[in-house]
Amino acid sequence: MRPLELYIHIPFCIKKCNYCDFLSAPSTWEEREKYVESLCHRICEFADRAKAYRVISIFVGGGTPSILTEEQISRIFAAVRTTFYVEENAEITIEMNPGTVTEKKLKCYKAAGINRLSIGLQSAENKELKALGRIHTFEEFLDTFRMARREGFCNINVDLMSAIPYQTEESWMYTLRTVAELSPEHISAYSLIIEDGTPFYERYRREEGAKARCQAELPDEDAERAMYYDTKKILEACGYHRYEISNYAKPGYECRHNLGYWERTEYLGIGSGAASLVDNHRWCEGEKPQKLSVPEQMEEYMFLGLRKMQGVSERRFYEIFQCSMKEVYGPVIDEMTKKGLLETRNEFVRLTERGIDVSNYVMSEFLLDE
Ligand code: SF4
Repeated sequence: MRPLELYIHIPFCIKKCNYCDFLSAPSTWEEREKYVESLCHRICEFADRAKAYRVISIFVGGGTPSILTEEQISRIFAAVRTTFYVEENAEITIEMNPGTVTEKKLKCYKAAGINRLSIGLQSAENKELKALGRIHTFEEFLDTFRMARREGFCNINVDLMSAIPYQTEESWMYTLRTVAELSPEHISAYSLIIEDGTPFYERYRREEGAKARCQAELPDEDAERAMYYDTKKILEACGYHRYEISNYAKPGYECRHNLGYWERTEYLGIGSGAASLVDNHRWCEGEKPQKLSVPEQMEEYMFLGLRKMQGVSERRFYEIFQCSMKEVYGPVIDEMTKKGLLETRNEFVRLTERGIDVSNYVMSEFLLDE
């Protein structure tokens, strides 16, 4: 049986955040109920193909999956477990937002086998949360976090965001320290990207006065850079190690599901818009699977793998593609190494500190001409 990761998408939120371009929207109870029903149906459709796989991780993401009732979550997991063989020690994560979680829900998650929680916080400052359009305060996050600990969850991620409106270097350091003091096992720290189609895009890119608002409300480039360096410094001092460009964990608590994405483990996404990679075919729900050519597979291997601090394994590259990494990428690796952006340690090629700073540039150099 081949290892498989499952992703289940729940596209509902209480209200849309100002920066969000994920597939999510407010919904009625009826819409959620109808969605869960067709989701369970869809899961069961994979019964035949599922026989070739053992599920090593499940990630219920969104949206805000914790918006669903206990009964709905139980039904989804019943469908998963009757369709797929789920390994006993599989990592099973659910995303949740403060303000949507109760003790009853957490008990239900435990009963369903969920063993990892991912809580969206973003900032410990209420002013910043308000500017982001989040539905909760920091105090509500604290209640949720403590409730989760009381219910026995010992693998918790907290999502944080830098470069957000009204944030200063000091307030970002305060957020990092305050959250690290709570000692979650994992912290994701991304910086805000202003995406087209979001209220922030209108406010900071298009509407009249956007430039002045950017200057007045958003941290400038220097502050952003300082925040970026503070993240690593503060989290490492608090016992977290950076294992991916934006992800930090206590030893042994790296997110196995996400590592699978970066290592191109096969994954099946179920639910609206969910992406899959199975048998070197990629598709999103509702689309026709597209076979990846060998050069496309190599490119993915490189630029997904380079996101990990460990880097990409030359040995594994050879096992997969039956040719050496040097044969395909020798000149790029040499050039990037000369520039001080890549280094090779044992069998791993990885980004240097300077390489991480310009990772998009380095990764783009690994595109192959077909
Ligand atoms: S909670 Fe998450 S998914 Fe929902 S609107 Fe906010 S950022 Fe988007």
